Amino acid sequence: MPLWQQILIGMIAGIALGAFLGPKAEMVKPIGSLFINAIKMLIVPLVFCSLITGVTSMKDTKKMGRIGLKSVAIYLLTTAVAITIGLLLGTLMEPGAGLNMVADKVMVAKEAPSLVSTIINLIPKNPIDALASGRMLQIIVFALFLGVAINLSGDKGKPVAKLFESLSEVMYKLTEMIMKFAPIGVFALMAWVAGKYGMSLLLPLAKVIAAVYIGCIVHALVVYGGLVSAISKLPLPRFFKGILNAQMVAFTSTSSAGTLPVSMRCARENLGCSKSVSSFVLPLGATINMDGTALYQGVCALFVAQLFGIDLSTGQYLTIIATATLASIGTAGVPGAGLIMLSLVLTAVGLPMEGVAIIAGIDRILDMARTTLNVTGDLMVTTVIARTEGELDIEPVANIAGTPVTQKV
Ligand code: ASP
Repeated sequence: MPLWQQILIGMIAGIALGAFLGPKAEMVKPIGSLFINAIKMLIVPLVFCSLITGVTSMKDTKKMGRIGLKSVAIYLLTTAVAITIGLLLGTLMEPGAGLNMVADKVMVAKEAPSLVSTIINLIPKNPIDALASGRMLQIIVFALFLGVAINLSGDKGKPVAKLFESLSEVMYKLTEMIMKFAPIGVFALMAWVAGKYGMSLLLPLAKVIAAVYIGCIVHALVVYGGLVSAISKLPLPRFFKGILNAQMVAFTSTSSAGTLPVSMRCARENLGCSKSVSSFVLPLGATINMDGTALYQGVCALFVAQLFGIDLSTGQYLTIIATATLASIGTAGVPGAGLIMLSLVLTAVGLPMEGVAIIAGIDRILDMARTTLNVTGDLMVTTVIARTEGELDIEPVANIAGTPVTQKV
């Protein structure tokens, strides 16, 4: 049975067990944590080695710059569209109307780091420290520098390039080994979530949940689906089936950084993206591209405004779009990070911080949808870049219509 079917069964069985056991399902959570920790173990070495390999296999620095610029441009554009969808759904569905909740928990807004300090901190003073603490942006910058230096060293640099190439293959193999346990890990995590959030907790906030889920599905099908068909020229069922493993791990782990090793496998093996493109575009995306988080922030900002009967001006809407784009870039790909960044967006438009406390109760459920969209977006951009660089080894859709899919999915 293919892995995605096993994971799907694990998911459904997990929901059934969670519904049956209720909060007691918490006891199976450690099994899920074991799986998540095993995947997290891969992130730093895999990203570091495969980014370096990505650069050394590219050689041409112009190409690297071009791919970087293209990726960031699509990341930003789709993120702005995602927030707009979030705001639209928030306006149409009015998730906060009629709810008279007053929270007593006061949340403290997170201070936004200044742009200058963000830029200065891109360069790690101590790369070993950056690796040890898992600071992704710093790791990416160091790996890029190191890759370029290896290329410039010519023959003398070749053994190092080979070493990293071999190391990334080994990490890749380890990912494959760990993914064999995904069905069990996913089963345990789903049981825990389903047991924890019974219907009684979900119903009062059902509209927020519905708005975020509908938004994520619309964004994935319309925006991503459109780009995949128009630019990547892949059949949509092929694309969505090819990324299912990554989506299911994202949904249950709520961490796009944690899903990275699985996304890399999907991009390479199921979607036919070249190693050099996927090992460059995906880590970047998992760090800065968070469309799901941006969409969620749009819905939640409107939810809070409606909850407290505050009318927003056009200027405030624009501020939400700007801050949510920046906040989503700054959001770490770890569980719950988007909720912390939401306080930033709310402060920027002067909305009460109590809204964060209300959303916190159901944040895991929302995180599952937004992380899945975040990961889907990263994979979509990878196929777009691979196609435009001539590095997608699946024939364009026009050429393969009607022919059976032969590659492994
Ligand atoms: N959990 C999300 C992710 O890893 C980030 C967020 O909380 O919005 O992509």
